[in-house]
Amino acid sequence: MNKKTVRDLDVAGKRVLVRVDFNVPLDESGNITDDTRIRAALPTIRYLVDHGARTILVSHLGRPKGVDDKLRLDPVAARLQELLGKPVQKANDSIGPAVQEQAQKLNDGDVLLLENVRFYKEEEKNDPEFAKQLASLAELYVNDAFGTAHRAHASTEGVAHLLPGVAGFLMEKEIASLGRVLENPEHPFVAVLGGAKVKDKIGVIENLLQKVDSLLIGGAMAFTFVKAQGGKIGDTLLDEGSLDVARDTLEKAKARGVRLELPVDALAADRIAPDANTRVVPANDIPDGWRAVDIGPETGRRFAEIAKDAKMVVWNGPMGIFEIDAFAEGTRAVARALVDSSAFTVVGGGDSVAAIEELGMADRVSHVSTGGGASLEFLEGKELPGIAALQDK
Ligand code: ADP
Ligand code: MG
Repeated sequence: MNKKTVRDLDVAGKRVLVRVDFNVPLDESGNITDDTRIRAALPTIRYLVDHGARTILVSHLGRPKGVDDKLRLDPVAARLQELLGKPVQKANDSIGPAVQEQAQKLNDGDVLLLENVRFYKEEEKNDPEFAKQLASLAELYVNDAFGTAHRAHASTEGVAHLLPGVAGFLMEKEIASLGRVLENPEHPFVAVLGGAKVKDKIGVIENLLQKVDSLLIGGAMAFTFVKAQGGKIGDTLLDEGSLDVARDTLEKAKARGVRLELPVDALAADRIAPDANTRVVPANDIPDGWRAVDIGPETGRRFAEIAKDAKMVVWNGPMGIFEIDAFAEGTRAVARALVDSSAFTVVGGGDSVAAIEELGMADRVSHVSTGGGASLEFLEGKELPGIAALQDK
């Protein structure tokens, strides 16, 4: 990784502004239902505390339109305090004189959490004046919020031009793991792609086609390819506008010598419901009134076989409608193959990560990316503005 990290900074006695991703899910009463994202930021926060920094944390939560009492960060501060085992101060704003005073009064090792930064519309607009006010709170900047690194916001990008900016440990791990896959692929290198629409994954397909030995395609997306080849897909979700892209991808794969595998069989259902009637059918012969809701068992075995022999596997996109347990077997088969493989395995994408977590296998792959959109953009080979703005080594 060619970006500086917190290890490269002398943080003792310094006020350090840290962009974290505390965008945690809340229930109706405002309780945190999953604190994974808070836990993920602990190594960076602990490092700063242990090295005598005066830590000022900034995050967004949800999508507020102006100040929204339901999206204040007080519950997050409370949980962080529990996890950290030391007091966490909470500001009621993210900029302004009162916050400035709180920041100035911090002692070495203290931690202050600013209010939800998206209460200001200037945040997402990357407003220079707002960025300046945020930056004025601190002397150094750390970005540990990989999940928002694909957005050029004031707290993710703007401030990095005003303060010396480096990566936190979570950010470092993301860049190192995803970067390893793209920059130093070990062969055989296999990509498993799924999900709903080809359209959402064109960039990832394009970029990975230049690097992988095998591309395994499942999910609804696979059936747009099947249709493009003249197959019959019944009532399966079709990404009509991407038929040409699918044809083009098949040709490119052939020209580059990439083994592109589509499902050979499918689990078809007469409805999308847990109690639907189902049957296994050839992937290119799905009867009218039926829709593919998962890859079939033969396809699951083939995909698992190819993934098991790989040196590197990157997986994005569920193989079927995994939200319904009866349609999750293909996704389970791929997850098991990654777990069983000795390959360097990376899982990225909001739903894919949810799937592997639900299956209880997240800690048995090499890297589970914490970014949804950010992971995809990284895999597309794009430069993420929140990373680009950090100092090079
Ligand atoms: P990720 O968030 O990991 O990038 P996507 O958002 O692209 O993944 O795709 C996930 C969605 O695709 C899930 O909601 C899943 O139900 C849906 N999906 C997968 N296979 C099918 C299918 N055969 N028919 C309809 N939807 C599907
Ligand atoms: Mg998704």
